[in-house]
Amino acid sequence: MSLAIGPSDVAAAARRIAGIAHRTPVLTSATANARVGAELFFKCENLQRTGSFKFRGACNALSRFTPGQRKAGVLAFSSGNHAQAVALAARLLGMPAVIVMPEDAPSLKIEATRGYGAEVILYDRYTVDREVLGRRIADERGMTLVPPYDHADVMAGQGTAAAELIEEVGPLDLLLVCVGGGGLLSGCAVATRALSPQCRVFGVEPEAGNDVQQSLAAGHIVHIDVPRTIADGAQTQHAGTLTFPVIQSLVAGIETVSDAELVATMGFFAERMKLVVEPTGCLAAAAALHGKVGLADRRVGIIVSGGNVGVARYAALLGGELA
Ligand SMILES: *Cc1c(COP(=O)(O)O)cnc(C)c1O
Repeated sequence: MSLAIGPSDVAAAARRIAGIAHRTPVLTSATANARVGAELFFKCENLQRTGSFKFRGACNALSRFTPGQRKAGVLAFSSGNHAQAVALAARLLGMPAVIVMPEDAPSLKIEATRGYGAEVILYDRYTVDREVLGRRIADERGMTLVPPYDHADVMAGQGTAAAELIEEVGPLDLLLVCVGGGGLLSGCAVATRALSPQCRVFGVEPEAGNDVQQSLAAGHIVHIDVPRTIADGAQTQHAGTLTFPVIQSLVAGIETVSDAELVATMGFFAERMKLVVEPTGCLAAAAALHGKVGLADRRVGIIVSGGNVGVARYAALLGGELA
C-alpha cells in the first residue's frame, strides 16, 4: 500500500508555509549532553506561532483550499493546539473558523482560540464523539473539516519541523518525536528518511496512553480509553488510518514516559534552558533524559512540540515536584 505522503509533499509544504510559520530555533544544552553522553539538538516548536508545531500543518492545509472552500471557512475539533493553529491560519488567510473543543481543555487554550477570532463550540469529551459532532456542524455550514492529524496536508506540514532541523544541523543518528495521533511523527519520519536516511526515528507516548506502541505490536490500530495523563496534547485514543501505515513502515519503535518524568523534564527546560514547555512538549526530551533509548555518542534530534501551559498549572506541576 502506498503511503499518504512522500518527501515531495513535505518540500511543497515548506515552500507554502515559508514566511508565515516561524523557522524555529534549534537549541543545545551542554548540561543535557553531559547527562546523556550524546549530542542533543532541540527543535523548539514551543516558540512556533501559536505555541506549537500545529501551526505548520494548519497553514499548509488551509493554504490549499479552493476559493469556494475559503469563503465557507474551516472547522476543526481539537483539545487545544490544533484549534489555535487553525484559528490563526484562518485569520491570516481571511476565512471564517469554527473550533469544536472539549469543555475541560485548558482555559488558556480556549481563550487563545477565541482571541484569534474563531467561534468556539464546547462539548463533553467523555460522552460525546467529537468527530460525529464536528462533521455534523461542518455539513450544516458547508465548512471544510481539517482534522488534527489524519490528513495528508497536515502530516506534510508537520514534517517541515524535522526537515528544518536536519537542514540546520546536518544528518542525525536518532530523532525523537512525541506521538498523539501521529501527524507530527509520520511527517517527520517521511522528511527524515529523505534528508538523513541513516537516522532512526522513535516516537514517544505517555505511559498511560501507549496506543501506538500497542498498535505496532498488534499490527493494526488499537483503540484505548481517553488516557489520564498530564500530556493533554497526547490524549488521543488511536492513531490515524493515514498516519499509522507511515509509522509502521518508517518508525523504529515507540518508547513511553511517565507523568513524573514529564514534570522533571519541564523543570529541566525551565532551569537549564530557560524554556517554557508544556507537558506534552516534554515527551521526546523526557525519553532522552531518562534513558529510554540508547543514545551514547549519538547525534540526536528532539522535537520540543509545544509551550502552551497556563502559569497557574505550570507552577502547580513544578511545585508538586518539589513537595
Ligand atoms: C498535537 C500535539 C502533539 C501530538 O501530535 P500528533 O500529530 O497528534 O501526534 C504533541 N505535542 C503537542 C504540543 C501537540 O500540540
